[in-house]
Amino acid sequence: MNFSPVEFIARKRDGKPHSRENLVSFFQAYVKNEIPDYQVAAWLMAAFINGLSKDEKVWLTEAVLNSGDRFDLCHIDKPKIDKHSTGGVGDKTSLVLLPLLVSMGVCVPMMSGRGLGHTGGTLDKLESIPGMTVLLPKEEYIKILEKFGGVFMAQTPKITPLDKKLYALRDVTGTVESIPLITASIIGKKAAEGLDGLVLDVKFGNGAFMKNLPAAKKLAQSLVETAEGLGVKTVALTTDMNQPLGEYVGNSVEVIESINMLQGQKVEKRFYDITLDLAENMCCLAFPEEDKNQWRGKLISKLESGEAYEIFGKIIEAQGVSSKTIERLPDSLPLASEIVEIKADKAGILKSIDTYRIGMLMVDLKAGRKKITDEIDYGIGLRVYKKLEDKIECGDILAELMVNERIPTAGFAKCFLTE
Ligand code: URA
Repeated sequence: MNFSPVEFIARKRDGKPHSRENLVSFFQAYVKNEIPDYQVAAWLMAAFINGLSKDEKVWLTEAVLNSGDRFDLCHIDKPKIDKHSTGGVGDKTSLVLLPLLVSMGVCVPMMSGRGLGHTGGTLDKLESIPGMTVLLPKEEYIKILEKFGGVFMAQTPKITPLDKKLYALRDVTGTVESIPLITASIIGKKAAEGLDGLVLDVKFGNGAFMKNLPAAKKLAQSLVETAEGLGVKTVALTTDMNQPLGEYVGNSVEVIESINMLQGQKVEKRFYDITLDLAENMCCLAFPEEDKNQWRGKLISKLESGEAYEIFGKIIEAQGVSSKTIERLPDSLPLASEIVEIKADKAGILKSIDTYRIGMLMVDLKAGRKKITDEIDYGIGLRVYKKLEDKIECGDILAELMVNERIPTAGFAKCFLTE
C-alpha cells in the first residue's frame, strides 16, 4: 500500500472522496492482516456517519466479492437464483424456498448466515437437524448442486473473507445499520455465488434492522442497483417485521413449521404468503419469457404433492442427515421438555409486539448466541398465538415457551402491548 492508512481514514472523516485504487488497496491490505482492526473500525465509523458515494459503495462491494473464492456454475444448465433476507424474527422462508424452487427446475446455491443480534439464522435452524452439515468444501457444495440442484451453504473462510472480517468488526462498533455497508456486505457475498438472479426480502419494523418502510425502500434500492451493476438481475420485496413471521420462533420449531409448509399442511398465513411471493419472484427471474401468472398455482401443487418435501429430504441427506433421522422427522428434532404459557393480564386489542425484544429474550434462553462461541439449545422455542390487531381477553394465552425448566415469563408478556 503506497499511502498512509491514517490519511485514508481522515479523508472519510472529512467527507472527501476516495479513489478506487486507494479504497481497493486499503481493504486488500486489511484482508491480509496488514492493517489493524482499530484503524478499519475508525474508517467504518467515519463511513457510517458520512456515508459512501455510489462509486465508493460499488468499489467496496467489488472488494468484498473479489476478496476470496467465487463460484463458477456456468456448467449447470439451469437458471441460478437465490433469495436473501435482511433478517428478522421467525424468518424461515429459506428452508422452504430452496427445495420448492429446486422442484421448479431452478438451481439454488443458497448461502445463508447464522443468527445475528436479535435475528435468527438459517444455518442455526438447519443445524438443529441431527447430522446436518452446512460447512463443506466448495467442491462438495458444487457436487451437491450438480446432483440435486440446490444446497444449503455457509460462508466458508475462503468465500468473501473481507465481509467476514468487516461484519465482525461492525457488530462490535455500532456500525451495522448503514445502507452502503449493508449493501457491500450482502451483494458482495451474493455475487460470489455465481447467480443469474436474486430476490431480496428487505424487512422493516421493530424486529428488523430497518425500522420503517421508507428506510427499507432506500436499502432495497441500494441493494438492487448495486447487484444489477454487477450483472445479477435483482428484485426486492419489502415485508413487515413488526411481529414474528409465522407461529414459531427458535430453531427446531422453525424447521418443523417449514416442514409443515413443505408437506402442504396449513401454516400461518403471513409466512405462507410471503414465502410464495418470494418463490413467485424467483420463478419470474428464472424464466423471464414465461407467463408469470402460472407460478403461484404450480408452486402450490409442488407443496401439496409432497414433491418439494421429498427434495428437502434428498438435499439434507446429501448434507449428512441419516435416512433414519429423515424418516422420523419432525420427531427426530430436539424439543425442550416444558411448556410455559404467557398470558395476557389486560383485555383489548393487541396493538404492538416488541419483536426485537422477543428475539433478544430468545437469545437469553440460548435459542441464539451472544458470542460466536456460544452453544445453541436447539430445542428452545416460542409459539406465538396472537397477531397484531387480534382481540384479547384477560387471561388469554398470548404465546407458549418451550423450555427445559419453568421460568418467569413477565419479560415475554411485556412484549405484547394491548390497548
Ligand atoms: N446481513 C448481511 O449479510 N450483512 C449486513 O450487513 C446486514 C445483514
